Parts: sequence; structure tokens; C-alpha cells
Amino acid sequence: MFKLEWHRNGGVVKTFRWATQVTSLLRFTNPNDIPIYGDWDFKVYPARITLRSSDMLAVYRQYIENHHKYHSTIPKEWPRYTEFQRVSELAERLQAACDTETDIDFESADYLWSFSSGLMFDRKFVSVYCPECDRDFAADQCKVVDWSYGSGLAAHGGQRVECPQEHTLYSCMQWNS
Ligand SMILES: [Zn+2]
Repeated sequence: MFKLEWHRNGGVVKTFRWATQVTSLLRFTNPNDIPIYGDWDFKVYPARITLRSSDMLAVYRQYIENHHKYHSTIPKEWPRYTEFQRVSELAERLQAACDTETDIDFESADYLWSFSSGLMFDRKFVSVYCPECDRDFAADQCKVVDWSYGSGLAAHGGQRVECPQEHTLYSCMQWNS
């Protein structure tokens, strides 16, 4: 809420208030139970992440466009088709949230955790709550660092988002050898 007061002769003549939120926000919990996390030498926290719904919707729209362009004839039993269906459903929910300017909470990080990696690593998120520090951090307070694990053909790595105390609040594997 934004408040503006109009003063005259030392007194408040009129108070204007309006909501500063003009966009829909999307929240989800960073999954910390991905099996491969067990190998990594850093702890991943189940951080609450807040994104702009419109940013995530743009990512899904791009995926849907690519699907229609390059994968529209794939068999319906392929996992890629299931993924396309789920992404389409989530995009519809986000579109409705944007249209009505309401916040939305995705109860599951499926099709959201990995799909949001570009936004997370470009620090295009709104804020993230660190359970260890017990507070929210804005994107510009967080660091994005590279990590890698293993060697030779078993090596893999990516980036991760850390709070100022170096707790990992989001991580995603981006490559493996
Ligand atoms: Zn922290």
C-alpha cells in the first residue's frame, strides 16, 4: 500500500492510498529433495521463491510456441507430450492470475523449478525467503555462483542462488559431461 498525505497549516487535509501491487506474483518452494542433491557438496534449502507471474508466463509461452513449431507431431505417450500438457495448464492458470492481478501459489514445483532457472540465474525474481536466516532477500541482495561436482564423465554443474550468508536457495543442474 502506498500512502500520500496532503498537508496544510500543519494538519493532514487529505490522505490518498492506493495499492502499489499492479502485477500478479507467483510463489513456490524450491524443492530440496531432488535425488541428485544427495551428491552435491552444498546444502539446498527449501526456500520460498517469489516471481512475477508475467515473467514465468513468458517462459511458458516460449516453450508452447516451440512445441507447436518443432514437436507438434510427437506421440501422445511421450513424456515430452505430458510435459507440454502440464505446461499448457500452468500457463492458463498464470494467464488467469495476470488478468485478475491476483497472486498465485503453485503447490508443486514440478515444471516450475527447472523452467524458472533462466529467471533465477538472471536474478529476475522478486524475492526469496531464506529459512536459515529467517528473512526475505531481494534479487539484488543475492549472489549467483557457478558450481560443479565430480570429474571426467561423471562431472556436472550449473549455477545456484545464494543469500548473503551463502545459503543455497535455488540450484539447478545445467550441464553434465
Ligand atoms: Zn540465508
